[in-house]
Amino acid sequence: MNNKRVALVTGASSGIGEAIAHKLVAAGYSVYGTSRRGGAGGGEGVPLLKLDVTDDASVEAAIEALLRLEGRIDLLVNNAGFGIAPAAAEESTVEQAKAVFDTNFLGIVRMTRAVVPHMRSRGDGRIINIGSILGVVAVPYAALYCASKHAVDGYSQALDHELRTHGIRVTVVEPGYTKTQFETNNLQPDAKLDVYEAIRVKVTKVVNQAMATGDGPDVVAEVVLQAARAERPKLRYTAGKAAGQLQFLRSFAPARLLDTGIRKALKLDTKLPSQAH
Ligand code: NDP
Repeated sequence: MNNKRVALVTGASSGIGEAIAHKLVAAGYSVYGTSRRGGAGGGEGVPLLKLDVTDDASVEAAIEALLRLEGRIDLLVNNAGFGIAPAAAEESTVEQAKAVFDTNFLGIVRMTRAVVPHMRSRGDGRIINIGSILGVVAVPYAALYCASKHAVDGYSQALDHELRTHGIRVTVVEPGYTKTQFETNNLQPDAKLDVYEAIRVKVTKVVNQAMATGDGPDVVAEVVLQAARAERPKLRYTAGKAAGQLQFLRSFAPARLLDTGIRKALKLDTKLPSQAH
């Protein structure tokens, strides 16, 4: 056991989670990452616990093991998540919708339920959930991912109200496009329809370009560290310029302007087809 603050970062085998783990190590935390495979991958100074956020028993076992080892968890960063390649909402079955929510939303619920009793008994703790700017502003052809991240945002809001009276604060960090393995790890829609083929090609091209010019994962990691250290953390932090701009528009611009802006950004038509009646 040591006196360092102990942080646990889910999905630390690559991308944003790995960058967060490194940032926290450099800031003096004792950091544990998680991966479904466990073992190596989190980089120097970050042991990877084997943990699947979709599996109740796996979550409970990993938290118990960490508490036996360190005796405390000061910071939980819920980062594990994935998306679906650009597709219309009706191109995913309900099974696929469940899979997205099982990791992106229920994964956070499982981790929170496992860690909060311990933090509550100590009257201290921080939980930082990695949402997405798409959890604030939804875009077409990413409906299930947007919905799962809106769920993360809503859950975090309610949780922060509940837990602050027990000394625990909850924050949601909302990155924009970030250069990671995210796209490679996207699931393909499991109920593709020919009618959406042309639009899928078009939107995929726009998204690929945006990803290629996106921020590096360190941008998100820096915001997470800022939130973890803040004496009075905010509920929401955006990460990256584009996410900040979208959040600003969402808060202050007329809804119609944002609506048109989203369609223009994805190169979609901005006029409604003439109505039959
Ligand atoms: P990566 O694909 O690089 O990393 C995803 C991580 O999640 C991996 O370490 C993977 O670990 C882990 N993971 C996936 N499923 C599970 C599971 N069931 N249990 C435990 N771990 C799991 O993507 P990013 O780093 O880009 O994504 C990290 C987070 O950031 C996600 O929540 C994503 O939605 C969010 N985000 C990403 C953006 C982007 O543009 N990249 C923008 C906004 C938000 P392993 O495979 O080893 O189990």
